[in-house]
Amino acid sequence: MGFIFAPPPQAVLPIAGDPDSLFPIRRVFHIGHNYAAHNKELGAPDDPVIFLKPVDAVVAVPEGQLADIPYPPMSENFQHEIELVAALKSGGRNLTEEQAAACIYGYAVGIDFTRRDWHFKMRDKGQPWEKGKTCDSALPITAIRKAEDVGDLSNLQIWLDVNGVRKQEGSTGQMMHSVASLIAHLSMFWELKPGDVIFTGTPRGVGPVQVGDMLSGGIDRIGTLSARIV
Ligand code: MN
Repeated sequence: MGFIFAPPPQAVLPIAGDPDSLFPIRRVFHIGHNYAAHNKELGAPDDPVIFLKPVDAVVAVPEGQLADIPYPPMSENFQHEIELVAALKSGGRNLTEEQAAACIYGYAVGIDFTRRDWHFKMRDKGQPWEKGKTCDSALPITAIRKAEDVGDLSNLQIWLDVNGVRKQEGSTGQMMHSVASLIAHLSMFWELKPGDVIFTGTPRGVGPVQVGDMLSGGIDRIGTLSARIV
């Protein structure tokens, strides 16, 4: 028996400091509204919103490389959201926060690019967010830094510059829900598995990008991410 066409390639992320290993991605979960100051700018509820993006949107960005992100069709307001990404090496159901923390393999830096015009249109109609949140080849993620090399997550600076101008700036200390508590929450709805990755929300300062813009962002002790809108 054979496939009727070639199956899609397995999406993978590199691992910082370990060129011989790759992290295979299973699913990409996203948390909305996890920084109070960003909730204020979008007028959002206090509880975390959860959505998923298709794995084929992922663009792996090895250290020191520049990702080309295509400006998507059907949007006139395409925006950046810099985020801490957690990558799981194990999973389970109904995890305690302690069990959830033990599932984390490492952390990366990602940008949750969004068609904000469609995001708001869908949100305001009470419809699913995919037209706003899912864009082809527009989910850049850096190499994963192992959790033991990152250490304490309680106050890491997170930032994003567009054309050299600081747009987003915050600290993981401003998260309303810790990474472990978000993983525990997800595990009440889904059996988490090795390879699941989780975008954990964006700090304040989201805004639009244009073709030709150069983006550079990062998180202390995790890494930096550079992207160009094409
Ligand atoms: Mn986001």
